[in-house]
Amino acid sequence: MYKLRGHQLFCLLGYRGMGYSQEYVKNMTQLHQKLRRDPMTKIKLVNGPDQLCEKYPNSGEYHCQNDSIYERDAVILEKLGLNIGQILYWKDIELHVKKYVVPSDIQTVCETCSWRSYGVCEEGIQEIHEGKGLREIR
Ligand code: SF4
Repeated sequence: MYKLRGHQLFCLLGYRGMGYSQEYVKNMTQLHQKLRRDPMTKIKLVNGPDQLCEKYPNSGEYHCQNDSIYERDAVILEKLGLNIGQILYWKDIELHVKKYVVPSDIQTVCETCSWRSYGVCEEGIQEIHEGKGLREIR
């Protein structure tokens, strides 16, 4: 079972192999591929830093404990109709995205994220609506 905080559920949808460091990318790619291949993978929703944050590089500002990131987690979980502590399959998280989220939500819930302008996270939500699941990372 993997532990994830709220906002990473959206980040995984938009993930295209970019990240903060080689180690961060390797870890995120492994999880992304696992979820893509096996949507029955169980996820526990946690409060605060998760196993993706663990690989956040030591250099520069560590933002994973910032209030703004906790707020983003809370807003995203509320939007998805999910709660901290819940355990569910990745495929069910995708179902919640399909039911409760639209691509333009990224513009508001992720307003301050530096990755937002790439447009990949909106694309990721759109692809869930189209029934495509997670995109393959090449
Ligand atoms: S805009 Fe940033 S926080 Fe929001 S889903 Fe994309 S990478 Fe994650």
